[in-house]
Amino acid sequence: MTRPNPVVAIDGPAGAGKSTVARAVARALGYTLVDTGSLYRAVALVAQRRGVNWSDREAVERVALDAVASGALRLGRGDGGTTRVLVDGEDPKDAIRTPELSMGASAVSAYPGVRAALLDAQRAFGADGAVVLEGRDIGTVVFPDAELKVYLTASDEVRARRRYDELRAKGVEASYEATLDDVRTRDQQDATRAIAPLRRADDAVLVDSSAMDPDAVIAHIVSLVRARAR
Ligand code: C5P
Repeated sequence: MTRPNPVVAIDGPAGAGKSTVARAVARALGYTLVDTGSLYRAVALVAQRRGVNWSDREAVERVALDAVASGALRLGRGDGGTTRVLVDGEDPKDAIRTPELSMGASAVSAYPGVRAALLDAQRAFGADGAVVLEGRDIGTVVFPDAELKVYLTASDEVRARRRYDELRAKGVEASYEATLDDVRTRDQQDATRAIAPLRRADDAVLVDSSAMDPDAVIAHIVSLVRARAR
């Protein structure tokens, strides 16, 4: 596939700083940003609204397929080069950012039918390049031919601390210990599922942000993209 502009894939575990970094990298380059985790979060929300238990694989897969086919779940353009997920015609905003929905997203994302239902939307946004996609399987499954793949990680404790600070800043009740537990449980689930598990693609650049501030990570990735786009 030849594209006029690069696709940048940023994968990694929960709390590695992917959202902040991907947003800033996209802005610096004038690229579109796609937060693919929001799609899995939206499936968890749709299932919940339809009264479907996240542990019921077949029912969740049906809900995901129906929601995508009917447009009840879709990925639209947001402000300033961003994309946003729409559920039943509305941006769910922080309703999909709770610890409960994080666990729901992790549960439903293990189902093959859910992943298949969301694949086209992700690929459609990246088809012409000039896009940054952040998730778990962008470099391995969604865009295995991405021009730049980054695997962004940090220690469990640093990631839990960031998540905890983020939640508290939003006024969500949380404890550091529970957040660390959640981060580890989600990593374990995401990395051991049979389909599209969280893993570093062989050709991904590893960036450990444990001891880096976000600006340094952003500058590093922007320079990697520029070097490849030449
Ligand atoms: O990145 P975020 O924390 O919003 O992702 C929520 C969940 O969605 C992850 O824990 C993971 O299970 C799932 N996910 C995925 N593949 C992606 C993005 C997210 O399986 N590309």
